Amino acid sequence: MKILLGSILTLAMIIIGIYIYKTQKEKHSMVRTVGRTLVIGLFIVLCNLVTLLTRYEWVCLAAYSLYFVASCWLVYYLLRFSLEYIGRRFEDYVKRKLMLLLLFADSLFVILNNVFGHMFRLKSVVLFGGEQFYELEITWCFYIHYAIVLCLVVFSLITLFYGSFTAPTFYRKKYLTIAIITTAITILNIITVSSAIDVSVAGYVVEAISIYYCAFVYTPQKLLQSTLLQVTQDMSIAVFVLDAEGRRLYSNGFAESLLVEENPYVNAEGEPLEKWCSRKYREVGEFCEEQAFSRGEDEVDLRIQLQQIRDKNNQAQGGYFVLQDRTQEIKDLKQEQYKATHDSLTGLYNKDYFCEEARRYLDKYPELEFLVICTDIKEFKIINDSFGMPMGDAVLKNAARLIKEEVNGAVVTGRIGSDVFAMLMPKKNFKEEFFTELKNEDFLRGVEKSIAFPVVTHVGVFEVLERDLPVSVMCDRARMAIHTIKDDYHKRIAYYDEKLREGILKEQEFVRDFDQALQTGQIKMFLQPQTTVDGTLLGTEALVRWEHLEKGWIGPGEFIPVFEKNGLISDIDRYIWEQACKQLKTWKEQGREDIYISVNISPRDFYFLNVYQTFMELVEKYEIAPKNLKLEITETAIVMDFNRQMELITRLRRNGFVVEMDDFGSGYSSLNMLKDLHVDILKIDMAFLNKAKDEERSKKILQMVIGLSKQLGMPVITEGVENEEQVSFLSEIGCEMFQGYYFAKPMSLEEFERIYM
Ligand code: C2E
Ligand code: CA
Ligand code: CA
Repeated sequence: MKILLGSILTLAMIIIGIYIYKTQKEKHSMVRTVGRTLVIGLFIVLCNLVTLLTRYEWVCLAAYSLYFVASCWLVYYLLRFSLEYIGRRFEDYVKRKLMLLLLFADSLFVILNNVFGHMFRLKSVVLFGGEQFYELEITWCFYIHYAIVLCLVVFSLITLFYGSFTAPTFYRKKYLTIAIITTAITILNIITVSSAIDVSVAGYVVEAISIYYCAFVYTPQKLLQSTLLQVTQDMSIAVFVLDAEGRRLYSNGFAESLLVEENPYVNAEGEPLEKWCSRKYREVGEFCEEQAFSRGEDEVDLRIQLQQIRDKNNQAQGGYFVLQDRTQEIKDLKQEQYKATHDSLTGLYNKDYFCEEARRYLDKYPELEFLVICTDIKEFKIINDSFGMPMGDAVLKNAARLIKEEVNGAVVTGRIGSDVFAMLMPKKNFKEEFFTELKNEDFLRGVEKSIAFPVVTHVGVFEVLERDLPVSVMCDRARMAIHTIKDDYHKRIAYYDEKLREGILKEQEFVRDFDQALQTGQIKMFLQPQTTVDGTLLGTEALVRWEHLEKGWIGPGEFIPVFEKNGLISDIDRYIWEQACKQLKTWKEQGREDIYISVNISPRDFYFLNVYQTFMELVEKYEIAPKNLKLEITETAIVMDFNRQMELITRLRRNGFVVEMDDFGSGYSSLNMLKDLHVDILKIDMAFLNKAKDEERSKKILQMVIGLSKQLGMPVITEGVENEEQVSFLSEIGCEMFQGYYFAKPMSLEEFERIYM
């Protein structure tokens, strides 16, 4: 019998030992309390084992007293555990020091029993047919100790029962479990405490296991599970779990709404969502990808992720799908992308995206020949300014429509500037008629009022010969071609070619070199004499020349149009005017105040300079007579802003300047205008007359102009006079001043002074 009981107790110790070990592995705030409770439990069983097996009375007596001491401490820890377990602080309920004092006193009281025997003594009994056991003979003192222990137990039980009634249902069970087990052990203990065989020991094992289970296993896992379920249930992402065979174990609300079997969501190939998922589950393992599914009109973009669940040995146990609804996000993204790549007014690609798409196209079809075509609406600003922005917008929309729908063959189209559209078109598709046959009505479709303004598009064509060129550069070149037709009403289409390119490069070089040229004296004033019919010098016209370091002498015909475009012309003019004034001052000092210098004023100068103030300052600075500085203003400059120019001219004349009207007959002027032109001298260029086919007729016109101007008191100077015949004719009809190669070519200042001074 002793062997059987001994074995049971040993087994109990092993089991409790295992749970002590397991407790140490846990990461939980209660590890210490649970661990100590279990260790004391183990010690109690050990003491019990000793009392059972020993033959020596004093050993048995000592083991019993230790057993009682330990049981007292056990209940103490049980109480601590109970309080902690229901989430209270032990110290809040118990005066810890007082309690410890009581327990130590009790322990001492029990230990002293070994000496005084005041609590219990041993009585040897023979049981089960001859085996010797010790039984306790208890005195009333024992009950003092017992009362302390019971008080603690009751306190614990109250705590646990209280906890189990006040706790949420979920916790109720676990408090109750421990409370009931503790009660059972206590009752067993009360019954068997004085008998030779204490069966309550078995209870300790059960209690140890249940405490461990309740503290570390039951609460966290069950709680976690139900919390997770609740969380996943409410989530806006769909979650469903599959077992190893691919059967659905769990799915949250959202997943269920997506996975409905009747009328399911299907992908582009018609495969239902759940089938698709389980196929992927079987075939792919873990993955994450985006897929669009639809159910009738209803479309969803899902980000689908499969995660596998593996056990400790890395064996697949199943997996779970996480489906995120990205429909709105993708819609927003697409919208944003659209906004970033399209022009909001016309819906065509914007510049960057046009370039990107055109590049893709060029790369995709390397064998095809392409054109980049740009269109520019002539004087679009006038449409906007005179007819209002809505009209401008309507014209642009129509232009975009025409380019997209009517101009066949463009593969990529875009709006790359306010009124500039671009196309990429295979060369074989291109027909000039696409553009030349566009009519005003085409641009005004849907516009209620018509406008008395011709909407004309200019078209620049660039043939893509160097494919590696950035598309933006191709567009620039097509647009450069457009610039060559700016003022030609009948010409609508221009092609970019090498000549154009060279011209543009040369222009760029001029602009690049200009500053240095002006500072280092490469810009020079040449002089061309103006004489009487017999060659007597009257004065001279200042004409600019550029002595370029690399290119040599360059005439103004080459660089002036470039600088007129960007306004640099006024720097040149300002420079030449100053050179002229300086020279007049020198001559004045040499006593030659009889010679004048005529300077040219570009129409652009009126925008970039205060012409009046500039001249006034110059004559003052160099102390020269204004009459010696003649001012040549072209007819075009005057006509451009007639009233303002006339006012300016009047002011200059009033200050003593002599104003000449240059290139008379080259532009819009009519004889009729002569009477309103209050200038001092009329300058007629023979070159314009020579151009005319009917020589007789032009001679008559010339005769009339000269006659008329004489009547108006305006002397005439004729330039471009090249031969004797011209000279005699001109002097016959009353011209008294001449300038031309016949008399002298433009020359450097040094040469001029050598010949004429
Ligand atoms: P323009 O003011 O009409 O100047 C007269 C042009 O006719 C000069 O050409 C001159 O060299 C040229 N010429 C003179 N006699 C004859 C002739 O018998 N036969 C022919 N075929 N041509 C003759 P250039 O110097 O090349 O100047 C061209 C134009 O450049 C000028 O025409 C003027 O409009 C402009 N220009 C020249 N210098 C300046 C300047 O300093 N400032 C501005 N704004 N324009 C200038
Ligand atoms: Ca001139
Ligand atoms: Ca002229």
